[in-house]
Amino acid sequence: MTKLILTSLAFLVTGMSFTFAQTQTDGQTGVAEVYAIAPESAPDILGKEVDWIYGDYLLKNEVISLTIAAPLPTRDANFTIRKIGGSILDLTLNEPSNDQLSAYTPTSGRYLFQDPALVKFGRDGDTVFWQCRSSKTVAKDDTTAIVEYRLKDGEAFVESTITINGDSANNIQPFDGIRADGWFEFKQSGNVAYCEDSFFRQTIGFQIPLTAKPPSWKKGRPSRLQYTDEHVARTDSQLQWQVRIYPATSPIDLEAIVNSSADSPTMHKFIVSPEAYPNETIDAVCRAKIELRTNSDQGKNEEPFTLQTDDKGIAYARLTPDAYIATVSAIGYEGTKVSFSAGQENSTVKLSLKNVSGFSAEIRDGEGNLIPAKATIYATEGENPNYGLRSARTFVENLVYSVHGRLYCPLDPGKYEVYFSRGPEYNSVRKDFEVVAGEIQPFDVKLDRVVDTTGWISADLHSHSSPSGDNTSEQYGRVENLLCENIEFAPCTEHNRIDSYTPHLKQMNLEHLLATCTGIELTGSPTPVNHQNSFPLIWRPNTQNGGGPRFSYNPLTQIERLAMWDNQSEKLVQMNHPNLHQIYGDLDTDGVADKGFRGMLKWADVIEVHPLETIFQDIPNNPPSARRMRIPMFQWLQLINQGYRIPGIINTDSHYNHHGSGWRRNWFASSTDDPQEISTDEMVQQVKSGHIIMSTGPFLSVTGQSNSSPEIAIPGDSLVANDGQITLNITVQCPNWLDVNRVQIFINGQPSKKHNYTRRESPELFGKIDAVQKFNSSFELSIDSDAHLIVATIGEGMTMEKVMGRRYGKRPPIAVSNPIYVDFDGNGFQHNSDELGLPLPNAETAK
Ligand SMILES: [Zn+2]
Repeated sequence: MTKLILTSLAFLVTGMSFTFAQTQTDGQTGVAEVYAIAPESAPDILGKEVDWIYGDYLLKNEVISLTIAAPLPTRDANFTIRKIGGSILDLTLNEPSNDQLSAYTPTSGRYLFQDPALVKFGRDGDTVFWQCRSSKTVAKDDTTAIVEYRLKDGEAFVESTITINGDSANNIQPFDGIRADGWFEFKQSGNVAYCEDSFFRQTIGFQIPLTAKPPSWKKGRPSRLQYTDEHVARTDSQLQWQVRIYPATSPIDLEAIVNSSADSPTMHKFIVSPEAYPNETIDAVCRAKIELRTNSDQGKNEEPFTLQTDDKGIAYARLTPDAYIATVSAIGYEGTKVSFSAGQENSTVKLSLKNVSGFSAEIRDGEGNLIPAKATIYATEGENPNYGLRSARTFVENLVYSVHGRLYCPLDPGKYEVYFSRGPEYNSVRKDFEVVAGEIQPFDVKLDRVVDTTGWISADLHSHSSPSGDNTSEQYGRVENLLCENIEFAPCTEHNRIDSYTPHLKQMNLEHLLATCTGIELTGSPTPVNHQNSFPLIWRPNTQNGGGPRFSYNPLTQIERLAMWDNQSEKLVQMNHPNLHQIYGDLDTDGVADKGFRGMLKWADVIEVHPLETIFQDIPNNPPSARRMRIPMFQWLQLINQGYRIPGIINTDSHYNHHGSGWRRNWFASSTDDPQEISTDEMVQQVKSGHIIMSTGPFLSVTGQSNSSPEIAIPGDSLVANDGQITLNITVQCPNWLDVNRVQIFINGQPSKKHNYTRRESPELFGKIDAVQKFNSSFELSIDSDAHLIVATIGEGMTMEKVMGRRYGKRPPIAVSNPIYVDFDGNGFQHNSDELGLPLPNAETAK
């Protein structure tokens, strides 16, 4: 897609000397060290996958750093990497420091290193070592394993030696485990096996000192690094293998260092910048590609090595001294070709790109303030631009976030359609234009906040990024996504780890736009019932689970442990995407009623009930198969009919940054409309009270009134109506990019035939297509017993695709209120027991 125009060779400066950051060894520079990590000796390792905690071990010399998980039975790296004692958790060059490894696990977890008394570490001549004997064997045979890591002064690799002792040692298959997640590719080249994440710029090489044959890969979770007889040493009762593990930036960097016998390679820092700075803020070419060939490779038709720069246009590689040709390209720039020579010194290679084309934008609200917003870019013909992975920050596939309201988007020449947006309280602006080579088109974009949500704020209580362990998305990108969708309250809820968004908000200087707090998603098994979110919880950075509770295999134990955490502090416990059928009365999902996990319901303050669309489906006449009875919305309505008064909520559960947050949200009642005034404690109470509107976009407002009470009830409230007469006031507002065409009232979970209003049947009740107010009517309802009332609105046959992307935007705009509980007889809202046609399993009443 990126058009590459080969210009005449421009020769650039080389050989500029370049000073590397020194190791943090307080005067012992150059000497390898090993120690148990404590608060006063925290390593300064950077990268998306940093997982060390206090009590783990650091091995470091002047070239590389690695951390080793403390050998404890409770040491987990994250929710998907457990029992990890003795594994390498973080591994990186010191410059650039960029850890993308999840774990190297000796013997791939067949031996567990869980006894701190079996650790030895220290210095042996010019080498530091860390060693541990296994305390448990998964196979329960007579063997034990010893892992030893050795790091020599000045060496670019750590050597791992696995020794298995015991009569049946030779029955053990020799392999280790590698968790390199997300976008890593697993390859072999020459005498090394390696895994490469080209986008996030880390390659890790594995080389066997005994032989020139590389180990092989078996892809999985973890992937296996497999050794053959050539790779191992055997005696009668011992099996041993040794592997050198090299952190590198890229395959060319790795190749230079593993083959560095003759000419020692030198480090080169590449900086790609625009030839003429378009303005003072744009001084780097984000995510350029640099293809490198040596002069002697020219004409050999071999695939060149590729380096990907970071968001600041920077890439690193160690290179064997030689003459090189770099071919540089980036979306929206004219490509260029540059010759340089790598000498005996580390150096900086400056590369520039010219003739940038694309657009820039300043995005303001109606009052003229710059606001966070996103631009979703579609090519009118051909493929959409793709700036980076859906795990990336800022430039994510075809969308660009700007938390400060200023966008600079290089684009190749062509015709485009761009949607600027900031969530469903704001209109979206569409621009159609042609990008001309060498020109940046400036746009002033005004996004009006047209939907009036006074008294309500937007919230998403369930979000993820890389620390969760089941994805590799940048957490900074999650925060950008939340801000640009105008989410105003979002606790941080990574799997099995208390964590915080505040450091990112501070870095952005935008703490006033997003209220947040530290929380967790506690994820055990069985799935899906044993997932609960909770906040606020006390964050203890760099400790196991961030100070959070441990998961359990028993959902009842787990939810109680979570609810009681932090000395029984006041908090919210949310049941995530549950199978309520299973929880209520079929724990083994065999279709026969049993006691279920019903005890969990007593700890659940709120239940996730998405997807909302199912409220409009005729579930009783189109039931799912008996074993897969997971219809949270329908079953939640049945629970309310059984007398459970647990509010419903929806969340994105986002794991990726491409429109991941924002397409589902809740509006919570709030005493303030200003995010910086939002209190977490109030949010907990508002949610517990059920003061919640769930929505994919439309802003639905519902109030109830009766002759018995002067109070106006909002969703979640009780309303006394001694004469059975209730007035429901319903309004729906939408911005210009979504619409609704139906409003439906549900009485005790059943859609009322009388109170079903569509634009087709009752056009007079609906606002004009271009109006913000889509609906504003009051209805009189009569009831003759206690009843709960829910209002839902939907745009049937409609989507929000252009603004919310294909994956999430293809769904209809829809909003559902929490119930108003009407008390007919004046002695409180009682349960009603109405069945909705597909009863919950109930062993107690089953005969
Ligand atoms: Zn989740």
